[in-house]
Parts: sequence; C-alpha cells; structure tokens
Amino acid sequence: MNALDTHRTLNDGHTIPALGYGVFKIAPDYCERAVREAIDVGYRHFDTAQIYENEAEVGRAIRASGIPREEFFVTSKLWNPHQGRETTAKAFDDSLRALGTEYVDLFLIHWPMPKRDLYLETWEVLQGLAAEGRARSIGVSNFLVPHLERLLAHGDVVPAVNQIELHPAHQQPSVTAFCTSHAIAVEAYAPLGQGAYPLLEEPAVVEAGHAHGKTPAQVVIRWHLQRGHIVFPKTSNPARVRENFQVFDFALSTEQMRAIDALERGGRVSHHPDDIN
Ligand code: NDP
Repeated sequence: MNALDTHRTLNDGHTIPALGYGVFKIAPDYCERAVREAIDVGYRHFDTAQIYENEAEVGRAIRASGIPREEFFVTSKLWNPHQGRETTAKAFDDSLRALGTEYVDLFLIHWPMPKRDLYLETWEVLQGLAAEGRARSIGVSNFLVPHLERLLAHGDVVPAVNQIELHPAHQQPSVTAFCTSHAIAVEAYAPLGQGAYPLLEEPAVVEAGHAHGKTPAQVVIRWHLQRGHIVFPKTSNPARVRENFQVFDFALSTEQMRAIDALERGGRVSHHPDDIN
C-alpha cells in the first residue's frame, strides 16, 4: 500500500477515506455545525456511534451540505445493550432513522463484551445487514485476538475493520499483526492519545514537526497514516479541524517513524476490552 494514499480499500472491496472526523464527545448542540465545517474543509468520513447521541446531527449536516450521499463514508456502532439476535436489527434501524440515510457505510459492534457472550449472534445479524446492503461494510471495535479468532471461526464474513485504541504510547502490536494477516483494516481510535498524556510534547514528535513545518498533532496523524491505519481525530476546535486535515503534503522519514514507534509504553487511555460487559 502506498503510504501517501488518501483512501484504503477494505477486504469487501469498498473504499474508505483514510482520514476522517470522529465525533465522540462532540455535544449534540455543536455537532451539526462542527460536521458542516469539517465538510467545508474537505472531510468526507465521519465516525459516530449510537452511544455518542449525535447520529442525527451528523446526518443533518451531511444532508445540508448538498453533496451527494455517496461521496460520504459514515460509520456508526451498535451500543452494548443492543447486542443479541432480537435487539440488534431494531437498534440498527434506529441508527438509520437518526442518520436519515438508507444505509451506513460501516457498522461496527462497539465492544465484544466477552462475559455476555453475544457477539457471535450479533455478528450473524450484521452479516444479514451487509447482505441487504443497508450496512455496506461491517466490522468490530475493541476486539482482541481471542475475540477475533472466535468470530472468524464462527462467522461467514471476515470483519472489514477492527477499530481499536491505538496511538504511539499504545500500539497493540499483536492485534494489529493479527488484523493485517487476515486483511482486517485497523482503525485507530484515540489517535492523539485523547490528550491523556503529553504525547504532543514528546521530543520525537515535536522535532519531526519542526523538521517539516508541521504541528505535533499533524505529525502523529501522519505517523498513523504511514503505519497504514485509518484515523479520525476528534476536535471541537475549528482551527484544529483544518490543521488535522493538512497531513498529505509531507512524509515522515524512516528515522522519524522509528523515533515515534519508540514511544510505546503500554499506555492505554480507554477501557480494557475484557472489562466492558
Ligand atoms: P483523540 O485521540 O482524537 O483526542 C482528542 C483530543 O485531542 C481532544 O482533547 C482534542 O481537544 C485534542 N486535539 C485534537 N486535535 C488536536 C490538535 N490538532 N492539537 C492539539 N490537540 C488536539 O481521542 P478520541 O477519543 O476522541 O478519538 C477519536 C475518535 O475515535 C472519536 O471521536 C471516536 O470517533 C473514536 N473513538 C472510538 C472508540 C471506540 O470504543 N470504538 C472510543 C473512543 C473514540 P479539542 O477538542 O479541544 O481540540
């Protein structure tokens, strides 16, 4: 894969913009405006979820843009209590209704919830949604290798993506290696480490920024893209929405990539997937 590509091809043949805008914790009363501004900047990929309670605002902003629906890539995620054979399809219908769209580009199981053990039957329902074309692609989120192995052994469809916490301090090498070997695209959430530790102040990041005339956030986003990740940083700041999109006009050197690789410290900022049930 060319690291400078702006798009990736998923294992089902669909195309996804490698860079998007994540709307976790963007308040519903600001979200529509935020997405409209992001569309003006050039974003066409939006990552929402049922639990974010802003699917309706994302959908309204897309419709208000006047740009054809097929030029957008919209992801949503099934919230945990809705897992199960009887409840998943209804929750999916609710997402489509909230988004005001006939299909989502990607629908994910948000967390595996291994103790509840419903993800296999939930996946069967998602396979049906994909067969109907109402979810163009289907995938999972927060799945570790044992969860993926079980899903692959049971299901007919290999997930198109696994969306996991991934940033220089928490690179999840075993999960990413498994995904790569099974053609599952890796989506990196919390790509900037959620600001939970001073990733953007790390000398390796700051120095690479100085070398290219780029900000630390642009360097980290670029690191993800060169690693092959799909990425959608969140910001409530319009200037940063623009800043985070200006990452296709430079390339980190091998040495700069390695210096950022070396920031790994097992620094998870979100929940361990086995702990969410
Ligand atoms: P991010 O790593 O994207 O970090 C967001 C933080 O970084 C915010 O505090 C933001 O502040 C700050 N920030 C953004 N851009 C810049 C910049 N250019 N310079 C300095 N600071 C910046 O964390 P998220 O958790 O939001 O992850 C991104 C997306 O991933 C989410 O929106 C969601 O779509 C998805 N996600 C999925 C999860 C899952 O379980 N599947 C879990 C968590 C996230 P400010 O807003 O003030 O700019």
